[in-house]
Amino acid sequence: MKDHDRCSFCGRPRSEVSMLISGMSGCICDECATQAGRMVAEEMQNSGKFEVKNLSLKTPKEIKAYLDEYVIGQDEAKRFLSVAVYNHYKRLTQKRERADVEIEKSNIVMVGETGTGKTLLARTIARLLNVPFTIVDATVLTEAGYVGEDIESILTRLLQVADYNVDAAEKGIVFIDEIDKIARKSDNPSITRDVSGEGVQQGLLKLLEGSVVNVPPQGGRKHPDQKMIQVNTTDILFICGGAFDGITTKIAQRLNTRMVGYGAAKTKDAVDMDNLLQYVAPQDLKAFGLIPEIIGRLPVLTHLDPLDRDTLRKILTEPKNSLIKQYTKIFEIDGKTLEFEPEVLEFIVDKAVEFKVGARGLRSICETIMMEKMFESPSSDARKVEITLDYAREQLSHVSMKRLALS
Ligand code: ADP
Repeated sequence: MKDHDRCSFCGRPRSEVSMLISGMSGCICDECATQAGRMVAEEMQNSGKFEVKNLSLKTPKEIKAYLDEYVIGQDEAKRFLSVAVYNHYKRLTQKRERADVEIEKSNIVMVGETGTGKTLLARTIARLLNVPFTIVDATVLTEAGYVGEDIESILTRLLQVADYNVDAAEKGIVFIDEIDKIARKSDNPSITRDVSGEGVQQGLLKLLEGSVVNVPPQGGRKHPDQKMIQVNTTDILFICGGAFDGITTKIAQRLNTRMVGYGAAKTKDAVDMDNLLQYVAPQDLKAFGLIPEIIGRLPVLTHLDPLDRDTLRKILTEPKNSLIKQYTKIFEIDGKTLEFEPEVLEFIVDKAVEFKVGARGLRSICETIMMEKMFESPSSDARKVEITLDYAREQLSHVSMKRLALS
């Protein structure tokens, strides 16, 4: 058989392929050509996608300004995050230039009640960056040898978003949510094995301080036949978040002991009992059950403020993709204008406060109010849809608030 009668790549003859393209000194079949095309596309996509030299260094002020577009309030957390991310980028570029003073990475821990914007902050920052970024939940982690996921699986997700480009993943950012759930359950460190507590913290420590770890490429638990990918965590920035339920008691206790004695009266007046989290200090995390080594590896500690009525009201309308803007857009696509009586917005906030459902609950309240209109409106000719206070009240009266609170 002549050379131009079979594929030079897979060797199959013309009769076995749908198409054979001839070149100067060989041929390629349709399947090999498609596969080669795919490989080129993948390669092009990976190279340069997360290249450090392409990092456009945004200043902390620019990063914060971006966060301000999507997240209401939380000024302190935004500042801390902006600086940490900026320095992370600085570190990466500085390494390339082999500077003599090495900037240490500053992993972050954010303490704030659930639903106050920790994940939202992390997600928003991720959108701004061109390093791989992933969010993982600490609750699924357990100590090696127990049911649950190995600590290293945290890095699997990072590898996946980096398209298994190890170089890129090693410069990424990981947001570990619910870090408080791996706190030691008892203050007594000598307690028999604490599967989900201290052992996991010890494992996590390895990642935080920077070491080469074996990562299972598909996640889950390691098994002997799986080929591991080695990842060096020295340059990975870790941002941790947690509600640390009950930590305010520990903060209050600490503040109280300090308040006794010299200068006590003065300090006591200054303490804002409604927002004790703002005084959170590393020793409170220790009292809560994080081991000192972990706390030492999370040098930047910041807090999120509880959401008051005013903030909830702003969350409804001000962020770039606020709920109200989203509903307006949905109707606009159908060529309709949606209008809310101003009292409706106040009413929604009142309900969220009354039933303590926070910012998350705003969405379920809005959905309940809007459902009927969203169902009816596309088949009606009316160009204008108005939500009045009476209408909102009426819609909400049909459902049990218990249901909203759970969602
Ligand atoms: P956390 O991670 O602290 O439990 P989330 O970030 O998941 O809370 O917040 C839940 C939802 O509430 C977000 O998706 C967002 O819609 C809204 N939200 C919470 N806090 C804010 C805020 N400060 N600004 C704007 N929206 C917020």
